[in-house]
Amino acid sequence: MAILKEFEDMCDTPLGKLKQVAEAMTVEMHAGLASEGGSTLGMLISSVDNLPTGNEHGLFYALDLGGTKFRLSRVQLGRKKRRVLEQESTEVSIPPHMMVGTSIGLCDFIAEKLAMFVATEGDGDFHISPSRQRELGISFSYPMTQTSGTPIRWTNPSVSTDGAINQDLVGQLTQSMKRRGVDMRVAALVNDTIRTLAGERYLNNDVVAAVTLGTGTNAAYVERASAISKWRGVLPKSGEMVINMEWGNFRSVHLPLTEYDHALDVESLNVGEQSFGKIISGKYMGDIVRKVLLKMAEEADFFGDTVPSKLRVPFTFRTHEMSALHHDNSPDLTLVGSILKDILGISNTSQETRRAVVEVCITVAERGARLSAAGILGILKKIGRDTVKEGVKQKTVIAIDGGVFKHYSEFSKCLENTLKELLGEEFTDTVVIEHAIDGPRIGAALLAASRSLYH
Ligand code: ADP
Repeated sequence: MAILKEFEDMCDTPLGKLKQVAEAMTVEMHAGLASEGGSTLGMLISSVDNLPTGNEHGLFYALDLGGTKFRLSRVQLGRKKRRVLEQESTEVSIPPHMMVGTSIGLCDFIAEKLAMFVATEGDGDFHISPSRQRELGISFSYPMTQTSGTPIRWTNPSVSTDGAINQDLVGQLTQSMKRRGVDMRVAALVNDTIRTLAGERYLNNDVVAAVTLGTGTNAAYVERASAISKWRGVLPKSGEMVINMEWGNFRSVHLPLTEYDHALDVESLNVGEQSFGKIISGKYMGDIVRKVLLKMAEEADFFGDTVPSKLRVPFTFRTHEMSALHHDNSPDLTLVGSILKDILGISNTSQETRRAVVEVCITVAERGARLSAAGILGILKKIGRDTVKEGVKQKTVIAIDGGVFKHYSEFSKCLENTLKELLGEEFTDTVVIEHAIDGPRIGAALLAASRSLYH
């Protein structure tokens, strides 16, 4: 219990600390906008300098590529007044052998499914003008570069500038589509956070930022073009640009790091990088819990005389399990008992033991959720939405997507409550967090539309 107590103390995130983290995030954002490489944040100027305006019209397709599945969608857009007239999606699991195989195999597979999807266009209310080629927007999420630990060949995990990367993917998919007789042009290629921002802002102009909290984590927001001093190009007409923060890489002396975080970092493939991501994202939170339990087992015989061998295996205990334990409301923690048995091979746990294990999960989740809220406050500070201007409180929406936010409700509740605490009652009604549901489905198609050759 002393190990647990020490861990809890080290993870403590009182409001004062969170405000320091938020301030540090704002400072890093300024630095990243001033010069390339001047910050731990990427602050990448997205190639999507024009978000959809609402004037888009016609039929557009989207491919949202994740680590284990992809989604194909189409939307029929009807300009400002009528917006999304019709929309349809289908989800496809990627067969495991394709995740580690060559990109050509996967592209052929996608093209095959795309051909089938296009063939059903006429069943709904979708139509394309005879003179137009179909246009496709692609979004990809982080695990695409990290499936089962084996990077797919056409992705480069070290490069994360959206738009500029994966030209290979565009080329290969285009070839595969040709072979399959799908007449489609790839008009946009973005990461999932930018896609969410584009879709959510199209649906609600009060959306200022999008955050992804899934296997990986990231944030993107809308910045005044004039505030981006490193930008040398022509300023966009809208006066706004989208910034891909790559916030997983954020680092600050104010982050509450423990010996377990240091160990996780040292054992990782990207030592010294992704400090923020290693605390708040789904890929790592479960493993931090495992490391704490391992120390309790090794140094205090917490699970009996022998150390359960599965506890020694990295990533055996995932954020999925952590969240299941955390949500067990039964009086004797039955589910906790069965998960410990099934996943970690630890049987006959006492109620006290189970309670302590849940305590570890709560500590890791609360630290992650509260720091995520601090990160969001950093963005709000940067764009001046944390204060009242000339007596007017502007409605401000942050759209959040990703498996952790969606499924780990104790995490999301804590994040929302913490942001409220940080901002104070004054902003309770004006700054809101929304779960992004529709935006991610249409975002990539909208970006294809805003880059359409047929305006
Ligand atoms: P991606 O892998 O593209 O980020 P998602 O946004 O769906 O896809 O996020 C998946 C991640 O969400 C998983 O890796 C896991 O960390 C987390 N996750 C999924 N389901 C749960 C759950 N029930 N509880 C907690 N975390 C979950």
